[in-house]
Amino acid sequence: KYYEPLQVGFQSANSGGKIPLGLKRKGLRIVVTGGAGFVGSHLVDRLIARGDSVIVVDNFFTGRKENVMHHFKNPRFELIRHDVVEPLLLEVDQIYHLACPASPVHYKHNPVKTIKTNVVGTLNMLGLAKRVGARFLLTSTSEVYGDPLQHPQVETYWGNVNPIGVRSCYDEGKRTAETLAMDYHRGAGVEVRIARIFNTYGPRMCIDDGRVVSNFVAQALRKEPMTVYGDGKQTRSFQFVSDLVSLSFFIPTFVVQYKFENGLRTFHSACASHILKENNFCFEWGALPTSNAENMGAGQPVIGFELSACEFLARLSECSLYALWCRAFSIKITYSDDYCMIVEGLMRLMEGEHVGPFNLGNPGEFTMLELAQVVQETIDPNARIEFRPNTEDDPHKRKPDITKAKDLLGWEPKIPLRKGLPMMVSDFRQRIFGDHKEEGT
Ligand code: NAD
Ligand code: UDP
Ligand code: UDP
Repeated sequence: KYYEPLQVGFQSANSGGKIPLGLKRKGLRIVVTGGAGFVGSHLVDRLIARGDSVIVVDNFFTGRKENVMHHFKNPRFELIRHDVVEPLLLEVDQIYHLACPASPVHYKHNPVKTIKTNVVGTLNMLGLAKRVGARFLLTSTSEVYGDPLQHPQVETYWGNVNPIGVRSCYDEGKRTAETLAMDYHRGAGVEVRIARIFNTYGPRMCIDDGRVVSNFVAQALRKEPMTVYGDGKQTRSFQFVSDLVSLSFFIPTFVVQYKFENGLRTFHSACASHILKENNFCFEWGALPTSNAENMGAGQPVIGFELSACEFLARLSECSLYALWCRAFSIKITYSDDYCMIVEGLMRLMEGEHVGPFNLGNPGEFTMLELAQVVQETIDPNARIEFRPNTEDDPHKRKPDITKAKDLLGWEPKIPLRKGLPMMVSDFRQRIFGDHKEEGT
């Protein structure tokens, strides 16, 4: 119901006809609570690029304005400093409710505040959803399974959680948030969606937020020892953020074909290997065919241009010049399967018909010692490891069973740890040594 025809030919290599690309969406009004945080800011990028109007609600406890300030001049973007524990009146179509500190260090910092955020904050956002008839998505967590007695964890498993432990403000808080969501669904007819997210890493994570991937990466870059808690044999499954939501500065491989009088020419754009800086797009809609025409040897793939997936889609939907072009040169554009941005768990869940809960995570399981080894391979083979006592109630293992998300959402993660980590390292390197000159050179 949100789509209207767009006059260009455009298809995804692996959409399988399920996603109506080639159709232009009407923008929605969407609230993202916690939108200035790590996951939220990537989600906001994607929603803005899709043409929606986004209101970020954030109290900046762990979020940063820097994560969203590239949207400040966009009339479709609004940022509200607000604590979700307080009521909020807005008129919107969808609510992505992410507000809650996610790192154990942060959520244990003020546990009463954490549980208030999870319970009262979620209640308020559900009250808002009920009043305006908005669809509501909760980002719950793999922590609802506690220290699991079933492995891997399936959504039907009820978990093994300590209700009075130091992690309860978070895991019991999220369990209550799920309960509230289901009760508003059953009792008040609110359309809800529940995602249980497993450990996610990527650019824009807080550098010192205490989570294991950010700790190891920052420590290895700063030539400090990597702190392995306990014996390091506990496991986690790590998902790159673009699998959860799409990543705006992630460059997928585009294959572009131009049909000229003397035959078909194919371009491959540069493949994603580094982070594209803001506004650093080489692509000029009007200039490309002529400026590159002479470089196109018959049958020779040429490095054509680079642009981010989101910028590409934004231009595709807004630029009428593109339609002219299509008629003139009959362009066909496909995504490469590897980096397909259609693979987006949260948005698929929101747009789909199933309430959930759905596990959203990468089933690749690593011990903390194995993770340290991957960080050594990626950053510094000589990075040292230092053992520290483990924290209380630390789950021994964690690995999602994602059969349900695969079957019902058509979603599965694409980026393994060894491919995702370098992209996070580029971002951390720049933030640690580049822009802020925090330390080192
Ligand atoms: P994050 O800490 O980067 O983001 C959380 C955001 O919520 C921050 O911007 C913070 O300022 C904001 N916030 C916190 N309390 C608030 C309040 N009371 N009112 C308004 N804003 C508030 O964490 P993240 O990794 O982006 O996580 C986002 C969501 O995903 C969280 O709900 C988290 O529980 C869930 N999740 C994340 C992971 C993960 O590995 N990243 C795993 C499971 C679940
Ligand atoms: N609420 C809100 N914004 C709204 C509607 C409700 O913040 O637009 C809050 C409201 O203050 C209440 C909570 O959501 O604390 C639950 O609202 P609901 O209407 O479900 O329950 P009630 O107000 O009847 O307790
Ligand atoms: N951990 C570690 N070193 C660190 C931080 C965490 O070995 O510097 C371990 C921690 O004990 C846990 C795992 O890494 O077993 C994941 O911790 P994290 O805080 O990233 O997330 P959790 O899955 O516990 O919420």
